[in-house]
Amino acid sequence: MMTLKELKPGESARIEEVGGTGALRQHFLDMGLIPGCNVTVVKLAPLGDPMELMIRGYELTLRLDDAAQIRITPLAKGTEEKKTAPGRKKTPHPGLGEEGIFHPKGTGDPLPDGTLLTFALVGNQNSGKTTLFNQLTGSNQHVGNFPGVTVDRKDGMIRGHKDTSITDLPGIYSMSPYSSEELVSRDFVLNEKPRAIINIVDATNMERNLYLTMQLLQMEIPMVVALNMMDELRGNGGTVDINTMEAMLGVPVVPISAAKNEGIDELVRHAIHIAKYQEKPVPQDFCSPEDHDGSMHRALHAVSHLIEDHAERSGVPAEFASAKLIEGDSQIADRLELDDNEKELLQHIVLQMEKERGLDASAAIADMRFDYIERICDACLIRPGESREHARSRKIDRVLTGKFSAIPLFIAIMGLVFFLTFFLIGPWLQDLLASGIDSLKELASNGMEAAHVNETIRKLVTEGIFEGVGSVISFLPLIVLLFLFLSLLEDSGYIARVAFVMDKMLRKIGLSGRSIVPMLIGFGCTVPAVMSTRTLPSDRDRKMTILLTPFMSCTAKLPIYSFFVTAFFPQFAWLIITGLYLLGILAGILVALLYRKTLFRGNAVPFVMELPNYRIPSPRNVLQLLWEKAKDFLQRAFTVILVATILVWFLKSFNFHLNLTAPDADDSILAVISSVLVPVFVPLGLGDWRLITSLISGFMAKESVVSITQMLFVAGAGITAEISPLAAVCMLVFCLLYTPCVAAIASIRREMGRKWAWFTVLWQCGIAWIAALAVRLIGMLLGAG
Ligand code: GDP
Ligand code: MG
Repeated sequence: MMTLKELKPGESARIEEVGGTGALRQHFLDMGLIPGCNVTVVKLAPLGDPMELMIRGYELTLRLDDAAQIRITPLAKGTEEKKTAPGRKKTPHPGLGEEGIFHPKGTGDPLPDGTLLTFALVGNQNSGKTTLFNQLTGSNQHVGNFPGVTVDRKDGMIRGHKDTSITDLPGIYSMSPYSSEELVSRDFVLNEKPRAIINIVDATNMERNLYLTMQLLQMEIPMVVALNMMDELRGNGGTVDINTMEAMLGVPVVPISAAKNEGIDELVRHAIHIAKYQEKPVPQDFCSPEDHDGSMHRALHAVSHLIEDHAERSGVPAEFASAKLIEGDSQIADRLELDDNEKELLQHIVLQMEKERGLDASAAIADMRFDYIERICDACLIRPGESREHARSRKIDRVLTGKFSAIPLFIAIMGLVFFLTFFLIGPWLQDLLASGIDSLKELASNGMEAAHVNETIRKLVTEGIFEGVGSVISFLPLIVLLFLFLSLLEDSGYIARVAFVMDKMLRKIGLSGRSIVPMLIGFGCTVPAVMSTRTLPSDRDRKMTILLTPFMSCTAKLPIYSFFVTAFFPQFAWLIITGLYLLGILAGILVALLYRKTLFRGNAVPFVMELPNYRIPSPRNVLQLLWEKAKDFLQRAFTVILVATILVWFLKSFNFHLNLTAPDADDSILAVISSVLVPVFVPLGLGDWRLITSLISGFMAKESVVSITQMLFVAGAGITAEISPLAAVCMLVFCLLYTPCVAAIASIRREMGRKWAWFTVLWQCGIAWIAALAVRLIGMLLGAG
């Protein structure tokens, strides 16, 4: 029999058998790769691997090695069945989640006034969760982490409704967690028991999205379905029969467009109502007794009776638990604490069902869910032909993931982003800000002089605070710009393509295409980069990616590069800065190859990923993100960096007898302490206590390397007169590679533990030292220095 691997682009086939084991196989099934289902190969990635598939109306990536595990029979062209539009018949409005129908005024059993109504926002990736969350909460939101893990957590209050709290959960495809991020979402729903779930469903991709809905319906938690992207569906001539859909799902369904702010008020009304009255989903039998002779129907009901008492005790909904047990989910099995007899009974039920059904248990369950979804779609959805958005995506993809254009364009796009940020728009904004800060400094200085403020204090304010912190703040525009571009690329759907295109290359260093995302974010800041590795499904990939992110120069290092390069090599500025970025990447690749042979043997996990349509990012989301980043940066500038600057200023201005020292004297407390490290840095040509001090302060925050250097060298003849150009280059290389800042180390520690955090600090410093030494030796050989 043929495998999917052998299918050529443009050809279609029917899936006969899905091989593989465990979580991966479950993931295939959850993504809709089920025996009996049709797939079409869209294209191969430019490097020949992975492949892009079309299944159930959406696009998926799959590596050839994994495709080889899926057996198929090819279909002749044009035999794919065409769906006929459903006949339109009127369904009475079920009136779920509405005042007046289910609970005539004054009846029902609402939660007492003042109870906090907690909502979980659950949905697939790219279904519009963040957009909806921003619409619902406005500015009433705060960002944090889930307890115990560093996945971004956003909580907020629904605008205009106090006593509400809504949590934006990481996107998930099913309640069988495949990555640790998905586990967070599942555990949140299972353990925190929100008062209600808002399930966001992408109407343009209903088959895929309803799979999760089916599982959520079994959670016995009040739920409302927000049918998003209705603008797109309608715009292409599609419609949804909402009444029928409500009746078939047993929960209220509200059509909305999060991006256009349509239907949000109605959604809020329904959500609050079902939460307040605790209206649970009306139970539906997803497994019909007629279906495949009812084998699955009988098995599900038998298991659910068997475990009813355990389910109640452990707080897991019985129907959800029985489906999970049949799928063989061991986490749920442990939670239920079944005894041996019951486990055996369960085994027999499953075996019997598999025999009758002729399909293994996990596939049979997934098939049952997709069957029901198909029935819903047939009854409620009038599909548009190919949507304009999809046609557009296909056209864009012909270029952006084209065989010959993909990689050059990726390099060009990244190049353009860096060019715009660092050379075209960035410096202009930066100068503007810097001159503003300068005039403020003049003002403060003159004011203090007029008020006869003590000279030492005056120096602290002008040299320490304005020179130091001011020079850091002037980098705000660059940082915000870089985040702006990265988030535009991410929200538009391009980054997913980059992962698709680069997968084969990253495999060479032992990673998968998904690792490209944290790495690109690493050019912005290591902290979110480390956090974003949570989306990687394997522990090994995740750890390795985390350890590689520090090699991607974060924006905080940019002030350092810019400072030294402007001072020493103004004519080669862009060349040297680009060189540093590339050097970081090169070092990362070498280290990855080393890791692969030592710490992280083995191969990256499979690469199964949805490729969403290209979309224009919503300005609101982008602005919200930029505001968060800017706030974070300013907070750091005024806390860590300010304190470090003042502390260093104090230490350099006084000697051990707490007398003021002469400017630039080497008996200041700082000079004495830093001198201890001088021997370590002498081989690098950096044996100057002032440079060492700035490097140490860089551990607090990279930007302060600049502010401290500026402050410490201000009294002398200026930095260009005091250190050689070769030393400056060594300094740059050392800064490029040495330990990430405390914030980054803290997030590495949270992800990987204390041991790895220390490893990162020492290992990065070691690499930096060796690299800087190598650069110095080469420089001396070439006669510089
Ligand atoms: P998340 O991954 O679930 O958080 O999804 P996002 O909120 O980031 O949205 C993914 C993309 O869909 C973004 O580019 C949004 O601008 C876009 N989007 C979200 N809601 C709508 C909508 O109602 N209509 C349209 N046309 N686009 C939307
Ligand atoms: Mg999001």
